[in-house]
Amino acid sequence: MAVLVLGGAGYIGSHTVYELIDAGRDVVVADNLMTGFRAAVHPKARFYQVDIRNRGEIDALFEKESIEGVIHFAASSQVGESMTDPLKYYDNNLSGTLVLLQSMVAHGVDKIVFSSSAATYGEPEQIPILESDRTQPTNCYGETKLAVERMMSWTSEAHGLRYVALRYFNACGAHPTAAIGEAHEPETHLIPLIFQVPAGRRGKVYIFGDDYPTRDGTCVRDYIHVTDLAQAHILALDYLMGGGRSDVFNLGNGVGFTVKEVIETVRTVTGCPIPAEIAPRRGGDPAQLVASSEKARRVLGWKPQYADMKAIIATAWEWHKSHPDGFGAQNQ
Ligand code: UDP
Repeated sequence: MAVLVLGGAGYIGSHTVYELIDAGRDVVVADNLMTGFRAAVHPKARFYQVDIRNRGEIDALFEKESIEGVIHFAASSQVGESMTDPLKYYDNNLSGTLVLLQSMVAHGVDKIVFSSSAATYGEPEQIPILESDRTQPTNCYGETKLAVERMMSWTSEAHGLRYVALRYFNACGAHPTAAIGEAHEPETHLIPLIFQVPAGRRGKVYIFGDDYPTRDGTCVRDYIHVTDLAQAHILALDYLMGGGRSDVFNLGNGVGFTVKEVIETVRTVTGCPIPAEIAPRRGGDPAQLVASSEKARRVLGWKPQYADMKAIIATAWEWHKSHPDGFGAQNQ
């Protein structure tokens, strides 16, 4: 029996595939390569270029492969774009998952681990954020992630499907071998953007707002290493295979860093001065997002290995040094 990883050519998906294969699991990857990279897919995984919105393609996959559980990353994930093109997010994220769940129910595949997001909370009620806190997304990306959580919940009641939704905080870092790492086109995320300065691809970084009610006025985020996130997916799948009930878990380090602190850490790790300029706030950015991941530790037995920001940034730096153009020409 194999694990099906949808979106396994993307950033967090590709790292999860590497961890699954290291753990000796049989892995099938499905990705439409809209934003993922073929070169990011582990050579030992069986790859299918399919789109989750295409019922025929998904049905054919479940008929060909013997799937014991699904890990579902396939989605559009840019907050800014979700505000200017919301229907793209309803289409890829909500309709795509609808088709996937219909096909899973039809084929008797009843376990799914879903990539959710801290964006489901919106402006937090308290820090650190608990899974039971209010969910009121402030952007369309978070709205579609929350809608999928609810769709899985109703499907679970009607059809006995069980799910785990993992609400990630800020994924960062790269595989310790630097074989794979973070690459988006266009890039919008803070850490890979900062690395474009030492890579000679941009002259400076912009800090979106320095008038937030935080220790240095810049936004605080909870940065969690991608390999730790990947491990949580395996634990979540094993939890479902062991009969665990449907549930939602936060995944973060529980420690917040400001934008200025992140830039300073990259300066320390790379030895590059990295000029930074204050720019206006970015719409929809909460001042602080820091997770309580106590539930994932207690119920799933999750133990993140990377607590130190410098160690996290160092893995990303190794990837960016060895792949200055991301997956670039490797994507063919
Ligand atoms: N940010 C910034 N400059 C950039 C990109 C991001 O100041 O060029 C800030 C952004 O406003 C947020 C934090 O960095 O407070 C992390 O943003 P990112 O897009 O990496 O992740 P998000 O928190 O949106 O998931």
